[in-house]
Amino acid sequence: MRHRLLVPGAAALSLLLAIPASAADYSPGAPGVGDSYYPESGNGGYDVSHYDLRLKYQPKTDLLEGTATLLAKTTQDLSRFNLDFGLKVSEVRVNGKKAAFKASGKHELEVTPAAPLPKGKDISVVVRYAGKPSELKIDGFTAWARTPDGGVVAQEPDSAVWWYPSNDHPTDKATYDISVAVPDGTQALSNGLLLSQSSKLGWTRYNWRSDKPQATYLTTLAVGKFDITKDTTANGLPVINAVSKDLGSNEGAAKSSIERTTEVAEWLETVFGPYPFNALGGYVPNVPAGYALETQTRPFYGKKAFDAGTNVSVVVHELAHQWYGDSVSLKDWKDIWVNEGFARYSQWLWSEKEGEGTAQELADYVYDQHPADDAFWTVKPGDPGPDNQFDIAVYDRGALALQALRNKLGDKTFFSILKSWPTENKYGNASVADFVKFAEEKSGKPLAAFFDTWLYQPAKPSAPAAKGATIAAAETRAERPKSWKSIAATNDVHAHGDVHAQDGHRPE
Ligand SMILES: [Zn+2]
Repeated sequence: MRHRLLVPGAAALSLLLAIPASAADYSPGAPGVGDSYYPESGNGGYDVSHYDLRLKYQPKTDLLEGTATLLAKTTQDLSRFNLDFGLKVSEVRVNGKKAAFKASGKHELEVTPAAPLPKGKDISVVVRYAGKPSELKIDGFTAWARTPDGGVVAQEPDSAVWWYPSNDHPTDKATYDISVAVPDGTQALSNGLLLSQSSKLGWTRYNWRSDKPQATYLTTLAVGKFDITKDTTANGLPVINAVSKDLGSNEGAAKSSIERTTEVAEWLETVFGPYPFNALGGYVPNVPAGYALETQTRPFYGKKAFDAGTNVSVVVHELAHQWYGDSVSLKDWKDIWVNEGFARYSQWLWSEKEGEGTAQELADYVYDQHPADDAFWTVKPGDPGPDNQFDIAVYDRGALALQALRNKLGDKTFFSILKSWPTENKYGNASVADFVKFAEEKSGKPLAAFFDTWLYQPAKPSAPAAKGATIAAAETRAERPKSWKSIAATNDVHAHGDVHAQDGHRPE
């Protein structure tokens, strides 16, 4: 009081300034999370904890109608915020009150709540919408595939904008309840557990729940006519596998492959530790695609993945991602090696277990297959760039780096790292740099230069660190391991006709 009396002018001024300054603190959330490859992916200003999607899909017309309820917490004082979404929206409510909204950019939905939202506030966002997802094209691409009896969405790095509004980046994971009504006689598959299904007036509603943190691109929906098998693992985990009823001559091979899911997951637990989720399975819809995707708890396998017969290796790859990619997700899309290097390496370990070629033999074969001037070595698995994000080098050189690490650290330390990483980073996000630091801590060895050589230099590593104790002489090229063909048949795992176009470098 005494102070104010002494300098009334200054006090009055600061009081005046305080009001507009405080209102100015409420600013729009960023239209992206700042991903180095996809700046528009995700949004700033809030964090989603749960998605409740209530959907209805008519296969005949491709009409998807939905009400999405998002539970989130604000992370800044927000005047408005963005969702990522492409279908037509009819109403948005924030905390029950109608909010203004408008579409902008390629897939942004700008939401202005009735009143600004302070930082740290729990909010609910309800979005009502309808549209034909196959007609939504972004850069000429749609992630939604129509099938003769339904539709499927499973794509990387983006797929959510075609069917539900979200904060579309792997750093904002959430739990999901997904309820889908489809015409009687048709099934709707999604992630996690099937809680219930019921039929009324010609429509059957399926209620799915995924109760562990899940990235938006790992959330999937498939509508169609499937042969479904249900069982439980020895540990009591529910298993649901589904194969489209019209796969033609690929049916037997597809079923024979995905019915190995329980066995493969059991083996992966011995390598990576306890399975992190509440359900297991896989599905093969009738889409003419050769790729597969590690959609959480229930990977998607394109029909063409079984053109050449049974392929357990692709099941190994997608299930390995449940630990490396799904439970521990990347921080930024440039960190793709923490997903793909390990999923590919797990295929090598499976080959080793099956007696079809050791990981060392596969590493030797990859190393010898690509001469020093091969463009293969110019792709840096540690930061391949958006155009090479799913290049074969991210997989093969990425796995080669892990075999080199195994040789450097010895089996005991190496396998202890492989198991402790998913355990210690469970349900979180991590970068390549985090893995380097983790491996250094666990091994007590400096590894920065080692990883720089294997992941970041655009050149064939000259020190054949991935080679076995008996280094093959220049004239004796490594023999092709038996498993090579089935592993190479999975090289298309992420080769989709995607927004972020691939370079088509697929040696098959
Ligand atoms: Zn993969």
